[in-house]
Amino acid sequence: MKLCTIRRPDGSLHAAEYSDGSVYMLGGQVIDIIRKGGEIDLSQRYRIQQGVTLIAPLIPGKILCVGRNYAEHARELGNDLPEKPLIFSKFPSSVIGSGEVIRWRGALTQKVDWEGELGVVIGQRVKDISEDEAMDAVFGYVIANDVSARDLQDGDKQWARAKGMDTFCPLGPYIVTKDEVPDPHALTIETRVNGERVQHGSTADMFFRVPFLVAYLSQAFTLEPGDVILTGTPAGVGKGMTPPRFLQDGDEVSVTIEPLGTLVNRCQVID
Ligand code: MG
Repeated sequence: MKLCTIRRPDGSLHAAEYSDGSVYMLGGQVIDIIRKGGEIDLSQRYRIQQGVTLIAPLIPGKILCVGRNYAEHARELGNDLPEKPLIFSKFPSSVIGSGEVIRWRGALTQKVDWEGELGVVIGQRVKDISEDEAMDAVFGYVIANDVSARDLQDGDKQWARAKGMDTFCPLGPYIVTKDEVPDPHALTIETRVNGERVQHGSTADMFFRVPFLVAYLSQAFTLEPGDVILTGTPAGVGKGMTPPRFLQDGDEVSVTIEPLGTLVNRCQVID
């Protein structure tokens, strides 16, 4: 099942299912469906033909991120692979959906970069679970773009501003339940800027894998339904290019991971 959130013309938000090019409205919100383990009330499911806007599938309570989780990406930025996962966070207020605009002040940063990533959506409240139990806590997957202001990342030391700015966590277009993703470590991640392919990696190359990451994070944090884990980006970010390349006003950045779809966002620099 592909779960999304739609906004109707009256401003109301609703859970919906995307299926074969059509959108079906469901009762309640996506977080309610996650808490129920994906159970939906079929009596409330009906097809919508027009007048809806797709927004972020959900606003997570926590967005936990893993840095330097692909060897080639660590190398392109001059780093070694860490001995244990490098964990940072983004904020719920940084989330936007596919089709929305990544926006930043030109006075604040001139080095905004892309990071296409596989996001893991948590389905159960868990703490201190083992790797063997970890996949039971996973609800599904979503595409993420860990947008990063490299100048702030280097200058601040802490990454809160660099990675947590408003609009710096595009998520979507929908959450795909785990039954439709038999192996999260056999997915191709492709990022394009204005149609030009800049990242082409495989989640097979992830260093710390999903069950390990879920178990590891659960030692420190109570994981809640709707929390999202960003699992790191493969090689091909702008900072690693020669010369480095960063996102500009008007650029369109898209991340594709089949069968999760394509997450597309335009960039806007404001004064
Ligand atoms: Mg990242």
